[in-house]
Amino acid sequence: MRPEEVIRLLESVGAIRQGHFELSSGLHSGTYVQCAVALQHPRYAEQLGRALAVEFHDLRVDCVASPAIGGIVLGHEVARATPARPDGSMARAIFVERDARGLMVLRRGFEVGPDEHVLVVEDVWTTGGSTYETIRVIEQAGGRVVAAGALIDRSGGQLEFPVRAEALVDLKIENYDAADCPLCRAGSAAVRPGSHFLGAMP
Ligand SMILES: [Zn+2]
Repeated sequence: MRPEEVIRLLESVGAIRQGHFELSSGLHSGTYVQCAVALQHPRYAEQLGRALAVEFHDLRVDCVASPAIGGIVLGHEVARATPARPDGSMARAIFVERDARGLMVLRRGFEVGPDEHVLVVEDVWTTGGSTYETIRVIEQAGGRVVAAGALIDRSGGQLEFPVRAEALVDLKIENYDAADCPLCRAGSAAVRPGSHFLGAMP
């Protein structure tokens, strides 16, 4: 999928919205991104997962690892769309999650074998922090992270990862302090995206 096609799909289901939003961080923005709105539909999750997997078809991928919760469905679909290995086996999909101390860890019996080639996948990179942490967890567990991927890079290509990284869409999204928001100055009121927001759609 070309970047415009990915954006069109995400906009058509409401996963990318234009307007005036108050984000959970308190910052204001003219663009709201919530990939789960698209990924809740299995056919779109499959389509997006396949598109992201294509970016890495030149690599051997034994396992896809994602940060919970946002990356789980996408990681599963990317693993499904990853070509079978020479012995016919399919890539696995695992995820890392926070423990009681707030540290990212592998749980649930997930393991990575020595020199297993791992692709780290997330839906959106904002600071890239979850992907960085996932890379660290996988490497500490003995895996070899060969690349990282995301549907959307909100930094507009500003992030630097220690591995090859590909996003389907680079989207530079400006956020504003509420006290210094040009959209507020223009006279509109920010809305909080979420369930109420969806319910308020005409
Ligand atoms: Zn505002």
